[in-house]
Amino acid sequence: MTTADTLDARPTALPDVPSTMLIGGTWSPAADGRTFAVENPATGEELAVIADGGQADAARAIEAAAAAQEQWARTAPRARSEILRRAFDLVLERRDRLARIMTAEMGKPLTEAKGEVTYAAEFLRWFSEEAVRISGDHTTTGDGTNRIIVTREPVGPCILITPWNFPLAMGARKIAPALAAGCTVVLKPAEQTPLTTLALAAIMEEAGVPAGVLNVVTTTDAPTVVTAWMRSGKARKISFTGSTEVGKILLRQAADTVMRTSMELGGNAPFIVCADADIDIAVEGAMVAKMRNMGEACTAANRMYVHRDIAGEFSERLARRMSALQVGNGLDDGIEVGPLIDGDGRGKVQRLVDDAVARGARTLTGGVLPDGPGYFYPPTVLTEVPVDADLMQTEIFGPVAPVIPFTDEDEIVRIANDTDWGLVGYVFTRDVDRAFDLSERLEVGMVGVNTGLVSNPAAPFGGVKQSGLGREGGKIGIDEFLEYKYLAVPRRRGA
Ligand code: NAP
Repeated sequence: MTTADTLDARPTALPDVPSTMLIGGTWSPAADGRTFAVENPATGEELAVIADGGQADAARAIEAAAAAQEQWARTAPRARSEILRRAFDLVLERRDRLARIMTAEMGKPLTEAKGEVTYAAEFLRWFSEEAVRISGDHTTTGDGTNRIIVTREPVGPCILITPWNFPLAMGARKIAPALAAGCTVVLKPAEQTPLTTLALAAIMEEAGVPAGVLNVVTTTDAPTVVTAWMRSGKARKISFTGSTEVGKILLRQAADTVMRTSMELGGNAPFIVCADADIDIAVEGAMVAKMRNMGEACTAANRMYVHRDIAGEFSERLARRMSALQVGNGLDDGIEVGPLIDGDGRGKVQRLVDDAVARGARTLTGGVLPDGPGYFYPPTVLTEVPVDADLMQTEIFGPVAPVIPFTDEDEIVRIANDTDWGLVGYVFTRDVDRAFDLSERLEVGMVGVNTGLVSNPAAPFGGVKQSGLGREGGKIGIDEFLEYKYLAVPRRRGA
């Protein structure tokens, strides 16, 4: 099998990154020869020029996935498992290289990118283990006439769409359970971060994924490519991670063919610090929940509700930690905060901060755009933020921590739940009963109790309300890619 790396004839700033698409086991340029450039958001430097897929490429990819489906579904679970396990080993072996690609095209600091490689690899390992544990059920009808045999089968060819903020982890979190379940896939990465996905696809191929089982189309025209897949009549399922806005478009499209969907959408996480919380732990949790990925995470703490008795100390300590962070090109040593993804993303953050300040919020640190190239935004702490500020109802997606003092716990639960989103919430308290009570009352899919990190391959990740449908990871993660089939088998009379 030819590897992408040998086909990549173009000079790129990142050596050994594929520049073509993986379709039906062949690394191919776009049918119409179109290409697009991928840039480093820290410098504006062109990193690579890669295939810009269109409708014809999309059609070829879904046909390849459909053609490979039957054989892949029949491949022994252990064989599927071992391919995923080899991919796990290879991803870890290439950790530094994958991290550099990710940092270059997305901006996150190298240390965080390495952490994401490990996190992504764990999905490959987790689902390599789950591939051999797909089980069914066996029972008898109430009147004793029939056996009921319940089996699990792969859904069929799946459409996977990933965002730019965790380009490797979101790819692995979808590819691994789909392949483990016996589904073939077509995958479209975000326009801003296709290189990480292409590098992952090359690794999957090296690990032994057969031709047509994993197909990747890179494009600047997401609606055309994805609509072609949705209307192809060949795809049975779409798994999407991205904004709620685009998720709704895809849900409407999925209705036309009654396609199964998994939606991992936006968040607006409340971060509640009670009066009895350990402030050291709460500040540490806030740093993780806010600053991971420069705040460009669906799990980012968006609203920090801190009891008025400790809000002053909490805000001052958080501001000290935030202002000490090293901001710069994520590829450089010692950098802790990279650039935001692009000018639009940074402009939105600046507008939200300006709005909060205009309504009376106080800036403890940050809040001012730096000069120079790159889409940098300084770590920012706002305090005394009024509840009607726009950033209370908008996913900030940047390194901005708004602190809102509260006194009444019931009132803060009501305010925390007063949003269309429900992905994750955080609760900080030393009181076990209070921790459970608040966790149960928050309308979210996940709660971090005295921790700012909930993501883990062993846990079911996902949200309620407009944060999405379905779960990724954990024991139930593979269910998203399986269908039930039930066989009615009559029992012999007298048996
Ligand atoms: P986005 O704009 O919704 O894009 C996500 C993906 O959808 C990209 O691949 C994008 O392609 C594609 N897309 C855009 N418009 C489309 C259309 N009309 N039809 C089909 N596909 C389309 O989101 P993003 O800005 O990349 O990512 C940030 C969002 O993702 C945030 O809201 C964040 O909360 C959410 N997120 C959620 C989770 C979770 O697990 N819940 C995890 C990570 C991120 P292009 O890039 O080519 O436009």
